[in-house]
Amino acid sequence: MIEIQQISKTYNGKNGQVHAVKNVSLTIRKGEIFGMIGYSGAGKSTLLRMLNGLETPTDGEIVIDGVSISKSKASHLRKERQKIGMIFQHFNLLWSRTVLENILFPLEIAGVPKKQRVDRAKELVRLVGLEGRENAYPSELSGGQKQRVGIARALANEPKVLLCDEATSALDPETTDSILSLLTDINRGLGITIVLITHEMHVIQKICQRVAVMENGEVVELGAVLDVFTNP
Ligand code: ADP
Ligand code: ADP
Repeated sequence: MIEIQQISKTYNGKNGQVHAVKNVSLTIRKGEIFGMIGYSGAGKSTLLRMLNGLETPTDGEIVIDGVSISKSKASHLRKERQKIGMIFQHFNLLWSRTVLENILFPLEIAGVPKKQRVDRAKELVRLVGLEGRENAYPSELSGGQKQRVGIARALANEPKVLLCDEATSALDPETTDSILSLLTDINRGLGITIVLITHEMHVIQKICQRVAVMENGEVVELGAVLDVFTNP
């Protein structure tokens, strides 16, 4: 589903170049929940941002569902990016819009006709368990509910891949578990491939099948979660 081929990203910082990602190659399989773990600064978010075209690799190629996104033209990239949904640590909701309006937003941008997009948004509200909260504003929701809105919005255009950037790091343990269960349901029920980054081992252990451990821009370990996190 996702082929990451010898990807590097170098930033030109104030104190010279920063090699954020160094020659990483990975294959993420269709339908799996793949985790990337590592300390802050390891290069996880840079890699994730390259997967949805928010950053351009300095070197290498990324192929998603048979299409190279690192070599796509801007007009193509926009279409390719609809295959990919993303959720964030701090939710990134529109604060002056209601739950339903937040979910409608990506459908409006994609040009889905009004009636269809309202039906779709309501279906997504049910999917993430927010029935009755359609007209609430984000400030009236708990952290877990806000992330449910984020998930619904990310799924609006029926992506094949869902990228999760520290999606539970701002949540308490119980809420984290409920969001991880929802992500598992979405993976199994809708067949969506999930890639998540986190610095928390229990998140990986709870829902991922495979994991890459990142350190200083490199993948230093890769394998089944049970193998990587079991002491020899
Ligand atoms: P992680 O997500 O694992 O915490 P990041 O991908 O955010 O790691 O960062 C990897 C390295 O790249 C760090 O040294 C960080 O300071 C640097 N970096 C990230 N984004 C930028 C940027 N826009 N400009 C310069 N350096 C950056
Ligand atoms: P719009 O006018 O399009 O409805 P908003 O003014 O609600 O958009 O928000 C614009 C951006 O600013 C959004 O991406 C949102 O995440 C951010 N933002 C707005 N209010 C807040 C807030 N109180 N805290 C954090 N981020 C906010």
